[in-house]
Parts: sequence; structure tokens; C-alpha cells
Amino acid sequence: MSVKVLKFGGSSVADADQIRKIKAIVEADPERRYVVVSAPGKRYSGDSKVTDLLFMLWAQIEHNIPYDALFDTIMSRYTSIEDELGVDAGIRGRFDEIRNKIEKGCTESYIVSRGEYLSAVLISGVLGYDFVDSEGRVLFDARGRLLAEETDAALRQELAQHERAVVPGFYGSSVADGRICLLSRGGSDVTGSLVARAADASIYENWTDVSGMLMADPRVVDDPRPIRHISYMELRELSYMGASVLHEDAVFPARMSDIPINIRNTNVPDAPGTIISKGGDDNSPEIISGIAGKKGFTVISIYKNMMNKEIGFVRRALAIIEDQHVNFDHIPTGIDSLSMVIESSELEDKLDDILAEFRHQLKPDDITVEDNIALIATVGLRMHRTLGVAARICTALADSGVNIRMLNQGTNEINVIVGVESQDFEKATRVIYNEFIK
Ligand code: ADP
Ligand code: ASP
Ligand code: MG
Repeated sequence: MSVKVLKFGGSSVADADQIRKIKAIVEADPERRYVVVSAPGKRYSGDSKVTDLLFMLWAQIEHNIPYDALFDTIMSRYTSIEDELGVDAGIRGRFDEIRNKIEKGCTESYIVSRGEYLSAVLISGVLGYDFVDSEGRVLFDARGRLLAEETDAALRQELAQHERAVVPGFYGSSVADGRICLLSRGGSDVTGSLVARAADASIYENWTDVSGMLMADPRVVDDPRPIRHISYMELRELSYMGASVLHEDAVFPARMSDIPINIRNTNVPDAPGTIISKGGDDNSPEIISGIAGKKGFTVISIYKNMMNKEIGFVRRALAIIEDQHVNFDHIPTGIDSLSMVIESSELEDKLDDILAEFRHQLKPDDITVEDNIALIATVGLRMHRTLGVAARICTALADSGVNIRMLNQGTNEINVIVGVESQDFEKATRVIYNEFIK
């Protein structure tokens, strides 16, 4: 029998009604054998996510503030579900264990990871599936980086012993000292992908609160078109650039084994959602597959006549930001100029030192710094066969009075990125969308 792996996000596990929907979805198909869950998310707007409450709980523990009230609030998120569904998953006993650990001393990652741990314990009880802990199976190195191959081997070995299981998302443990390590926020999507790979799944179903990926962020563009089929490569570009429906790193494990990812809506289970696979949709009439973007970038531009003839110039420029442990996102170059596009949060108190080193080591004719830049990526596998996509974007933006501060085309030619002033971000996104989608 082939295996389907399902991941349910925070809103899908938020309360008893949502967990009833999960049960119905899982039971509708016997191939749905492994289930990865997030911590309970918001039940209504203005509510809190359990993960955020756990970060607050840690702050109270760390600062010796009495934490009982918050501890009980978090416990009641789980016990109310247990009581309403009439299952005994042993949640109260697990909270006693957690309190013991707190009294003996524990880490922030341990506390925060309990959101997913308890969710998986609860849902395994509801479904009658085994509980398989991510601790000791999703593995990290001593610096907290995910070890993909070791994780695959450990998960594979464990899953082989369970016909059906629920696995908590978002965390694992270090091979160095066994401590709990967290993935970045939204990381349960990555756990789902790791489990899909280790189970040799035929599909990775990612169940959330929208019926698939849309061509643009619905908070910016009115009623954007749904994407039925998209390639791993395109999705990676879009999610990296802010289409937050799937974690940007969730593509890798599934792609390694060619497992399609299907984004589905827990509240509309019959909707087909979006399929993410190797080939994407080669027959689509649209040139572009989607648009995504984010604010908060700084562009540092270095100008020097004959820069292209100066051997080692780019290497020295990169070494300077490397010394400061700063990552860059893009480095568009010309014959006499080099720009670095960097997330402003990376620069914080380092910008002055970096500029001083640029001036000292590179002897440029001029350096300019522009902050408050937003990047917008227009992504499409079919763009490389189509002339003039960048020109159309530039003309459309110019016609509507938006200034382009930076333009860059990815080497894979499936991506044109424009930098605009943050205040123009929403307008520019709508202009590009309307240029290509009629
Ligand atoms: P989960 O808790 O299930 O992991 P997330 O909140 O992480 O869900 O992701 C789903 C959300 O992503 C949607 O509710 C939507 O607001 C947002 N989103 C942002 N960009 C897009 C897009 N292009 N298409 C669909 N949803 C998007
Ligand atoms: N609960 C974690 C978060 O809020 C992980 C996840 O939901 O994927 O970021
Ligand atoms: Mg998410």
C-alpha cells in the first residue's frame, strides 16, 4: 500500500472542531498513515498561538516571574480539546512532567517545542495512531543545523516499526548533546517534508487554511487567481520571497525523492488545492506563475570606473561582509558598479563598519546606501522562453509612476526581481499582477 504523509498547521489543530475535521480527513483514505502536526494556532482573530504563549512562558521562567497562570492557560488549550472530544490522551500527566522539568531547569527550546509535542500526543490519542517523537529522530548538529541525511535514516528506521503514527513538527534534537533544537518559525512544514521522504510517500499533503497557493498575497491583490500546479523551483522562489503559505525550506526533502506536495484546505477538504512537483505546469497559458515580495531591504551600491578589470574586486567586497557575518540576498553587477541587496535587519549596527572597510579596501569612486527597499519577485518557469518579461515589468511600473531602484534576473531565468521603495510595494505588486494576469 502506498503511503501518504499529512501535515496539519496551527489553525487546523486550534480547537476540537478542527481536530474533528482532521479525523475525518485522515479516516477518509487508508493510505493516510503518517501525520505531522503543529502546535494549536489562533482560534479567532485576536487569539494567541500556543507557540507564542510558550515563548512568553519561557520569559517568565527565565526572569523568575510566577508562571502558574500562563502555564494553566496553555494547559487548558489542550485539556479543553481532550474533554470536548471525550478522549484520554494523558495530557494532564504530560503537563506534570513538563512542570517537573521546569523546576529542575530546562532550555527555551524545550519549553517552546512542547506545543508540537502535546499536540501530537493529543492527536495520536484522537486518531488511535502511535506517537513517534521527533526528539532523537529529527537531528541537528552542534551548531543547531538540521542534519538531513542522519534525520532521514533515523526517521526511516522508526517509521518502519509503526503502521500509523503522529509526529510532532518544528523540533528535533542535537546529536552532540541530545538537547532539543527548533527549526525556524513555521518549521512544521519542513518536518512534514522530512517524514514524507523517510516514509517514501506517494504524496505530501500540507493541510492549512487556504485552498492552495494563490498567485499573489491576498492581503495585497484582490482575489488573486489560485495556482493549480507549480514546480518546486518556482515555489521555492515564491516562498523565500514571502509567499508564506509553505516554509521556504520545506521543498528540499520532498524534492530529493520527487514527492509531490499538495497544499490543501482543512476547512474545504474537497478543494483540489495546489500541486507542487518537479515539472510544474508546462501547459499553462500564463507566462508567470506567481508574484511575492517583502519589505525591509538595504541596497549598498559601490561605483568604480573599470571595476570589471580589477581582478579580485568582487571577492574582496564579499570578504568584507563575510567578516561581519552578514548574508546577502542578491548582488547585481555592472561593468563599473556592484550592488549588494541585504536584509536591513542583518546590518543593524554593522553598516558603518562595512562602509568604512569598503572605502578603505576597495577605494571606490562612490558608495550609495538606500534603505526601506522592498523586493518583488515575478516568478515563472515559462519566462525563460518568453522575451521581454523584464521590459514589460519595467514599462508597467514606469507608466504607473513607480521608481525602480534595482532590477535583477536570477540565473535560472525563472525570476525577475525588482527593488522599489517600501511605500510603493503594494501598488507595484498590483501593477505587475495586472500586467500579466488579465
Ligand atoms: P499553517 O498554520 O497551516 O502552517 P500559515 O499561516 O503558515 O498556515 O500559511 C497559510 C497562510 O499563508 C494563509 O492563511 C495566507 O494568509 C498566507 N499567504 C501568504 N501568501 C499567500 C499566497 N500567495 N497564497 C496563499 N496563501 C498565502
Ligand atoms: N508552531 C510553530 C510556529 O508557530 C511551528 C509551525 O507552526 O510550523 O512557528
Ligand atoms: Mg505555516
